Amino acid sequence: MKFEYVIVGAGLAGLTMAERIANELNKAVLIIEKRNHIGGNVFDSYNNDGILIHNYGPHIFHTNDKEVYHYLSKFTKWNDFWHRVLTYVDGNLIPMPITVETVNKLYNLDLSSYEIEEFLENRAIDIDEVKTSRDVALSKVGHDLYEKIFKNYTIKQWGVDPMELDTSVISRIPIRANRDTRYFNDKYQGMPTHGYTKMCENMANNKNIKIMLNTDYKEVIEHISYKKLIYTGPADYFYDYKHGKLAYRSIEFVNETHNNESYQEAPVVNYPNDYDYTRITEFKKLTWQEHNKTTICKEFPCDKGEPYYPFPTKEYKEQFALYQNEIEQEKDVLFIGRLAEYRYYNMDGVIRRALDMFNAEINK
Ligand code: FAD
Ligand code: UDP
Repeated sequence: MKFEYVIVGAGLAGLTMAERIANELNKAVLIIEKRNHIGGNVFDSYNNDGILIHNYGPHIFHTNDKEVYHYLSKFTKWNDFWHRVLTYVDGNLIPMPITVETVNKLYNLDLSSYEIEEFLENRAIDIDEVKTSRDVALSKVGHDLYEKIFKNYTIKQWGVDPMELDTSVISRIPIRANRDTRYFNDKYQGMPTHGYTKMCENMANNKNIKIMLNTDYKEVIEHISYKKLIYTGPADYFYDYKHGKLAYRSIEFVNETHNNESYQEAPVVNYPNDYDYTRITEFKKLTWQEHNKTTICKEFPCDKGEPYYPFPTKEYKEQFALYQNEIEQEKDVLFIGRLAEYRYYNMDGVIRRALDMFNAEINK
């Protein structure tokens, strides 16, 4: 087989590159995907009860990047959706991230925004150089809120103390001395009206795009000639682990369907200190589907399994740098995405990266 462009992985990184090559350049492109579906981790599907679930955990689109938003809007309409999360602490469900309501409810107070600012300032710990995720939390909210909200959730999620994780992890969570209880600050937020899989199918809907499912690229790549390979799988696998295995954190998703219309008060409830799972998602509260039953998903983080999260520690970043040196020597292979670049990208970050890479490396 002969293709000018071959892409490994039909996640958002691979699909965005394929869509651009097929539509903008009008060139043929082959995508090789080892799973039995496209979409990568944003894949959603209807379960046996007819409820739309996110097969790889809750996905909420949010961005400040207008171009990315408009790009995706070519393939889907959006339900306006402002994500809200509650967290279960000391027997109460309180809004997450930390806002005026969170502090007032947790400590049974009635402080104003201004007073909350003072409250947090008084508790925040002076740290000369903020180097870890623990430092981030302590320097913003102090010991008690750190212990109640961040510490144990992070230990469950990553299997290590927040002290061992770089600042990027807990920095994802805003702290607000106001009454805005939305989970994300971003200007554009939404859920694809007909789901992510439909959006991905629309991206791939071009006669120039051919997709080979159920195939690890290593099984077939010798028999395919190409000018450029665009690789979105794990970097260490590409190089046969020559610099050792990179750590990725995995999650076991356990779904339950209940014979009630509603299960919980919010789309996502976090459990920092209780149970072995980190959070419960109720899909209907993300998708707005009407149904007399409801499906929930409990997330049990683990080391073994599908690689979902690159591990943000100094040690693994240094190990990845060895692969990065190799990647920089490649002439015919581009590496992109959460697995290939070993970066904790959100959906919008991956699409921004793909659009930029297309313009810089392919549409020159
Ligand atoms: P992937 O989606 O992982 O796609 C890579 C593809 O390559 C996969 O389909 C894989 O099967 C395939 N592949 C790998 N190796 C091979 C091989 N050897 N041969 C062939 N194919 C191969 N982002 C948000 O913006 N909002 C959210 O709310 C959000 N929630 C998330 C929740 C969870 C639990 C997780 C894990 C991620 C979440 N994300 C969220 C991040 C989002 O999933 C990623 O940003 C995005 O999916 C990354 O796309 P990708 O193409 O880089 O990787
Ligand atoms: N986090 C926490 N408590 C929470 C929610 C998040 O300590 O209630 C920390 C945890 O370390 C997590 C990180 O913040 O890994 C980022 O959270 P986010 O909700 O962005 O995680 P994701 O959706 O990427 O799994």
